[in-house]
Amino acid sequence: MASVSVNSYSESEKLLLAAQTGSIQRVKAALKAGADIEFELHKSETIGTGTALYIALRDGHLDIMRLLLRKGASFMKRLPGGYTLLHLAAHKGKTEAAELLVQHGATLDVLDSCQNTPLMAAAYSNNIDTVRRLIELGARPDLTDGGMAQRLGIDGSTKKHVYTRPMSTCIRLIHEARRSKLLRCCNPKCGKPGYRKKLKLCAGCKLTRYCSRDCQKQHWSVGHKKCCGHDACPAVGLEAISLPCP
Ligand SMILES: [Zn+2]
Ligand SMILES: [Zn+2]
Repeated sequence: MASVSVNSYSESEKLLLAAQTGSIQRVKAALKAGADIEFELHKSETIGTGTALYIALRDGHLDIMRLLLRKGASFMKRLPGGYTLLHLAAHKGKTEAAELLVQHGATLDVLDSCQNTPLMAAAYSNNIDTVRRLIELGARPDLTDGGMAQRLGIDGSTKKHVYTRPMSTCIRLIHEARRSKLLRCCNPKCGKPGYRKKLKLCAGCKLTRYCSRDCQKQHWSVGHKKCCGHDACPAVGLEAISLPCP
């Protein structure tokens, strides 16, 4: 910061600074003063790049993430490599942050530009708790088209593992989830397990599935409406009864 006084920052810049330092009061004050919740700097030595939500996630300020999400901050923006914020949380082992994003409607099985799901990003970084929680929340253990799954040796190919760090627990959890053949209702308030063919697929994105129409409606209103159709669609041949978007 050196010689630059905080007063010379715009409200939007103050928002980023507050998200970085973890001051929820300053985040509230900046928003009240008219800061743009989606503002981001593309080059900054003091604050870094990314939106306030990205910065709060990166720096581990869950309370600020919660506030920003409540205020409607978007989690749709892609990071380099096509990573979503959910990929980032999974990759960094920020389990609570990942859960928070999912509760606000983030699509669990969203793909980055190399076809990796957040679950595979968590497994690839050997974040056992995150892998466990994402599976509990309903992440599909069988979406293994991406390079991470290949390198983990869980993509079904017979190629030898290229990557052999001790990550057997993550791989075991994914194998167990696959063997059970059960997926979960994507409404995080429900999460009821069900067989793939019994769960109904959202016709908009073909990425989320629900045990009932009510669950779909609930998930739509908590945030799926923001993601539906905007997440890459993997076309993985899900056989299920499609539900139109509410
Ligand atoms: Zn449900
Ligand atoms: Zn959808």
